[in-house]
Amino acid sequence: MKCKVCHTMISNSKSECSICGFPYKENIRSSSESEKAAIVYRHQKLANVSIGVITYDYIIENEEVRLESEKQTVIANGNDLEYNRIVWCDKDYKNLPDGVVNVCVFVKKGAFNVRTYNMEVDTSTFKDHARIGVFIDEGLTARFIVGTPDKRIMTDRVSLI
Ligand SMILES: [Zn+2]
Repeated sequence: MKCKVCHTMISNSKSECSICGFPYKENIRSSSESEKAAIVYRHQKLANVSIGVITYDYIIENEEVRLESEKQTVIANGNDLEYNRIVWCDKDYKNLPDGVVNVCVFVKKGAFNVRTYNMEVDTSTFKDHARIGVFIDEGLTARFIVGTPDKRIMTDRVSLI
């Protein structure tokens, strides 16, 4: 059986889900109230969570490449995420370099807890331009999608909690 909140397989030897802590007795109850309780619980877990991408601007100065600025762009807040739906960032990244590029993403909880992840993305899959999307996966994790609707790659999971 899968946890109603985080979609992880759960066992009946535990009184709560080992990933998200949703009570086992709520998970085995089949009622619309327990479904609602699961949604409320997930929204509480993902309150104050935002997910996005970090972009860097470089300048060349005295023949040296120097980082000029770093910008965080939020793609989604935790409560915007629903299972089986990708939330896409508005920005279309154009003129991508050929080959493997680093995409830096972040998961932020509250104002100060920020985790960043570097992901290698092979641009030869989609060429020229790409967008970045995110969706919620099992275990209250996020996966990022980079590319276009028909040609895209999916990243590993990053924890949202
Ligand atoms: Zn769970």
